Amino acid sequence: MTTVLLARQLFTPLEAINDAALVMEDGVIAAVGARADLRIPPSALVVDFGEAVLAPGLIDIHIHGGAGHDVMEGSDESLAAVERLMTKHGVTSYCPTTVTAPVDATLRSLQALGKAVEGAATDGGDGTRAQPLGVHFEGPFLSHAKRGVHPPDLLQPASRELFERMWQAAGGRVSVLTIAPEIDGALDLIAEASRRGVCVSLGHSDAELPQARAAIKAGARHATHTFNAMRPLDHRSPGLLGAVLTDRNVTADIIVDGIHVDPAVVDLFVRAKGVEGAVLITDAMSATGMPDGAYTLGGFEVQVHDGRCEFDGRLAGSVLTLDRAVRNTVKFAGTSLQHAIRMATLNPARVLGLAKRKGTLSVGADADIAVFTAAGEIMRTIVGGIVN
Ligand SMILES: [Zn+2]
Repeated sequence: MTTVLLARQLFTPLEAINDAALVMEDGVIAAVGARADLRIPPSALVVDFGEAVLAPGLIDIHIHGGAGHDVMEGSDESLAAVERLMTKHGVTSYCPTTVTAPVDATLRSLQALGKAVEGAATDGGDGTRAQPLGVHFEGPFLSHAKRGVHPPDLLQPASRELFERMWQAAGGRVSVLTIAPEIDGALDLIAEASRRGVCVSLGHSDAELPQARAAIKAGARHATHTFNAMRPLDHRSPGLLGAVLTDRNVTADIIVDGIHVDPAVVDLFVRAKGVEGAVLITDAMSATGMPDGAYTLGGFEVQVHDGRCEFDGRLAGSVLTLDRAVRNTVKFAGTSLQHAIRMATLNPARVLGLAKRKGTLSVGADADIAVFTAAGEIMRTIVGGIVN
């Protein structure tokens, strides 16, 4: 079946097209352009979104949960709850993100998540659920000094052997590894994970500048929640941040909820990384989309009050949604809606090496679409070409 979407504007996101039309066939984009230039088959179903903006579906490469569930629960029921919440906020695909937990529990979660990724790749679903693309390992290879809320007794030195067990458990469906480059064995593991096509992301780290540069040389090419759980930027000893903010070959993500990073520093970050190097994430946990109270993140209890998630006085994940991160970026950094959307679509797709198929409205790409109002609110989310 052929479906045609019409809207006042469309962001590919590299280009903006006015009075746009997008043609979808069998879950794939068949044509994109100005309405006047496209031939619309008479048998097609036409959906006119009026004054709206069509954009690629958002991609969250760092999310722990939502709607009362943590992705580490692994059951289809809990993933369904999280994935349905995401589509309410324009997200069509994501990387389920683990936290540091006992090895056995981690491996069990990874088995379930690996299967979920595989399932989503073979069965497009009913269009109501965001689709997992691959697991993000946040831990256990993190620095004690910058562990955040990750339990100290469960952190591990970087080990190919443990990474291999985690990889096997997830069936090789691994997208991102967050690692502190200064811990024992890190450079070796960074090289191995990169060789397997995993995006190695530097984070939860107290690294000095030379250690960070050595990690980038070994294959690291991204940074995890920049500024949070990192040695602060010092002008005489810039550390990991000095490398991340200045290296054009390194992309970096950030939590733009106005709590984790001051709005002025979000502006600074976008200037440093540019429209092409900045990636928006949520780091959202199970409390997202729920009232204030006590919730779990991995294996520990987090208190949520007025948008702040805390454990033992430390920030523990967020209740941010990715559409709000886009709007906040417009507000804090003064970027256009088009550029902010790029940071949550094409840029994360490039981080994952999937930019031909995801994060873009172009011929041959998956028909994953977020429909925005001009003010950046989500009107509709389309996963795999299914208009619900
Ligand atoms: Zn996280």
